Amino acid sequence: MNIVLLGAPGSGKGTQAQPLSVRYKTPHISTGDIFREEMDQMTPLGMKVQEYVNSGRLVPDALVLEVMTQRLNQPDCEKGFLLDGFPRTVAQAEALDDYLRSAKRPLDKVLYLSLSEKEVIRRLSSRRQCVRCGKVYNLMTQPPQIADHCDVDSAGLFQRDDDRPETIEKRLRVFNDLTEPLIAYYHGLDMLETIPADKPVSEVAQIVIKILDTFPRT
Ligand SMILES: [Zn+2]
Repeated sequence: MNIVLLGAPGSGKGTQAQPLSVRYKTPHISTGDIFREEMDQMTPLGMKVQEYVNSGRLVPDALVLEVMTQRLNQPDCEKGFLLDGFPRTVAQAEALDDYLRSAKRPLDKVLYLSLSEKEVIRRLSSRRQCVRCGKVYNLMTQPPQIADHCDVDSAGLFQRDDDRPETIEKRLRVFNDLTEPLIAYYHGLDMLETIPADKPVSEVAQIVIKILDTFPRT
């Protein structure tokens, strides 16, 4: 089962992807996670990515494609994958289609978690991360048990630079400009399922599972 998850930052893509990855035994491939890992390890690629992230700009297509096709070539992706945060532009989507077609494993479905702009800003500015283990919380939807402390290791929580209101607005503008054509592209291929993501996490999960359960499992 080859799936792409689309959705604005804060739409709950990552939260939805983890249990789906377990249920359908497919790796959850997040561009954000791969990039963060490279940045943490300060690899040459990570340093390049860091420049774009710091300024709220998108990482260029060529750089993203290089990283993602490398990842999709790994053996754990043979029976399927759940892409999160990629493709982000029509150019990336076309390149992904070319790559998958030549590998004879085309996409099955594109799930679009749809969320209003107001809700995106409200959710993202509530996001906090553990300084020690990196676990992500949301003060509205997934608060820690003790305020400002990580449930796992009791370390303090901080707000990532890219979750500050001024950066969120910039990210959202860039995201919307790119995503509208991407949505149209997949809609034109009859692959798009739009899912209302303003609902609670568990309700959204039920809708997604209902769609994906119709696919044969490997
Ligand atoms: Zn922690």
